Amino acid sequence: MILGSHVSMVSPEYLAGSVKTALGYGANALMIYTGAPQNTKRVPVSKLKIEEAQSLMKEHGIPMEHMIVHAPYIINPANSTDERVRDLARQFLAEEVRRVSAIGARYLVLHPGSALAPGGEAGIRTVIDQLNAIDEEIGTDVILCLETMAGKGSEVGRSLEEIGQILSGLKSPDKYGVCLDTCHMNDAGYAMDRYDEVLDEFDRILSLEKLHVIHLNDSKNPIGARKDRHENIGCGTIGFETLCNIAHHPRTASIPKILETPFIHGRAPYAVEIDMIRRKKFDQARLEELNDEQS
Ligand code: FE
Ligand code: FE
Ligand code: ZN
Repeated sequence: MILGSHVSMVSPEYLAGSVKTALGYGANALMIYTGAPQNTKRVPVSKLKIEEAQSLMKEHGIPMEHMIVHAPYIINPANSTDERVRDLARQFLAEEVRRVSAIGARYLVLHPGSALAPGGEAGIRTVIDQLNAIDEEIGTDVILCLETMAGKGSEVGRSLEEIGQILSGLKSPDKYGVCLDTCHMNDAGYAMDRYDEVLDEFDRILSLEKLHVIHLNDSKNPIGARKDRHENIGCGTIGFETLCNIAHHPRTASIPKILETPFIHGRAPYAVEIDMIRRKKFDQARLEELNDEQS
């Protein structure tokens, strides 16, 4: 099973520190942001301790494909209102792809973003135009993975069909893939307890070959709520059994699964969640202990 979580990347160890954090969680995959998800301030790649990180990965037998990068939320390809915002987002995304390439990672997860008005073709069109505008600037070594969204507000990509519409409008579809987020899928109305059927639908609409990353999260909200609030594994509406089934499912065994579940009283729950999933044994007390140690 390829399982890990979001980890921070901070001074002074940067990427090497991220890998050490992930190893400490018992993970064999990880996801980082190249800087704060809310802004575009970025440390030059030369300072990120990339070689040290790569040799740590190698030492532990973890391929670089299991190091995922997530683009910051401020990149909003679906925003069609302000041309200046659009230009900045495009420029930043092209730079981000180059950073991911320098890091040696393969998959960059990207939210299609939020449009001006909900459910319109305009948002989808804008995402396509934005991505096509940087087509010549990006190579083929990094795959941009569009994330399935919960459908909150005017989010684009709230169904497999919408992701498919984006993909089919792209100049170089081979440069793109998909990241499936279980919380977002639940909130968008997909029954994750029928994972096989979801995969069949995914395969029919997008092809399973396009699936490169799974975000494994429980949800605070019922199916179809269009909310997007992540919950700890086994503590939400999707539930441990379903998430464990997804994590262990043979059809997606080769896909890295990344936890983006909330901290518990300021503490990362990932070591406990990873262990519970690996052992297929939910133990709420272990998560609550995290709680107690902190308070
Ligand atoms: Fe995301
Ligand atoms: Fe996600
Ligand atoms: Zn989310």
